[in-house]
Amino acid sequence: MSDRPVSQALFARASAVLPGGVNSPVRAFRAVGGAPVFIARANKARLISADGAEYIDFVNSWGPAILGHGHPAVVEAVREAATGGLSFGAPTELEVLFAERLRGFYPSLDKLRCVSSGTEATMSAIRVARGFTRRDVIVKFEGCYHGHADHLLVKAGSGLATFGVPDSAGVPEAIARLTLPLPYNDADALREAFANRGKEIAAIILEPVVGNMGCVPPEPGFLQLVIDLCREHGALSIFDEVMTGCRLAPGGAQERFGLRPDLTTLGKIIGGGMPLAAYGGRDDVMSIVAPLGPVYQAGTLSGNPVAVSAGLATLAQLTPALYERLEALGAALEEGFRAAARDAGVPACVQRVGSMITLFFREGPVRNWTDASGSDTKRFATWHAGMLARGIYWPPSQYEAAFLCGALTDADITRTIQACRESLAA
Ligand SMILES: *Cc1c(COP(=O)(O)O)cnc(C)c1O
Repeated sequence: MSDRPVSQALFARASAVLPGGVNSPVRAFRAVGGAPVFIARANKARLISADGAEYIDFVNSWGPAILGHGHPAVVEAVREAATGGLSFGAPTELEVLFAERLRGFYPSLDKLRCVSSGTEATMSAIRVARGFTRRDVIVKFEGCYHGHADHLLVKAGSGLATFGVPDSAGVPEAIARLTLPLPYNDADALREAFANRGKEIAAIILEPVVGNMGCVPPEPGFLQLVIDLCREHGALSIFDEVMTGCRLAPGGAQERFGLRPDLTTLGKIIGGGMPLAAYGGRDDVMSIVAPLGPVYQAGTLSGNPVAVSAGLATLAQLTPALYERLEALGAALEEGFRAAARDAGVPACVQRVGSMITLFFREGPVRNWTDASGSDTKRFATWHAGMLARGIYWPPSQYEAAFLCGALTDADITRTIQACRESLAA
């Protein structure tokens, strides 16, 4: 677009050297058209583009930036750690502190292992679950995204849904066949799967609040049913809290709903914007991970001191006051969007849990992937362009939850709601 000449030019250069001009597909803005905004820098709740435009950020690096960008305590921790050496490939006290701190937030984590991305965390948790149960089948839910490992790229929501690719090329059928996809929030389908194949199922992996088909909350009792069925049939429950972890509460969705899964995966916020993730859970299960046991998993940069320092500094800021503030901001935005859609006469529903929110362009409720995929994505694209033109950086896909950060002001929310009204009218 001509109002973003620098981004346009950078995107042309990028497209010559990177597939689609990006290092992760959804950034390419394909679902909403046009060229992506190139970011020069960010501060608090603001992104500043390469074109010099300022945006209120509702992507927040797809979740990690819960404090907003450039929080002084996090930046200082990174600076200090970097001065002492970037990576040693040997244990440090920082990793111990970090694991202890996480365990304080997540009582279900008897033991945990640090990795460098959410994809690695889920991939490793699945391997551990298979190794522990000596079974191969994984249950996942349609529209849930758990990173891009082979066995999890089956009916995997957002990025894939956005591009209309149901499964990835390059994933062997023999591997995809070991993944059993079920509809989210469907207790009967889950019971039936266990009745039929209970002895083959190693684990159920799920997003305890889905963000990767847009924000879809679990129905009352659904998560407990997952845990109970697993226990009954000798399978393991894996809560993929890469997105919800430290976002819905310091202890994630499991704290919010008072649940204790067998295994948990974390990422995004726990790294404070650096590449850091983790998986962990029951002591007897994690005790089969190398060097203690036969499940191999390793990483040159795992527990990297700079990343762990950013994570520790971020975790230290996760106060009750922060979550109260996020809840208030979220409630105001939800109410404002809902009223805006109603006044515009646009069929829509707003779904929110804490600081995760989606404006679906269809009547609600959206309970699963079939519902979500019935949204009017053309209308979403028009609305998104309107928001962007008004300085609001919203996730460029109907199927991605937006995130609020603690650096947002009340005035930011008011401006965002006004932009929503104008964009719905367009
Ligand atoms: C982002 C995400 C992942 C993948 O994490 P990466 O760090 O992008 O590999 C896995 N699971 C969920 C629920 C996510 O939101």
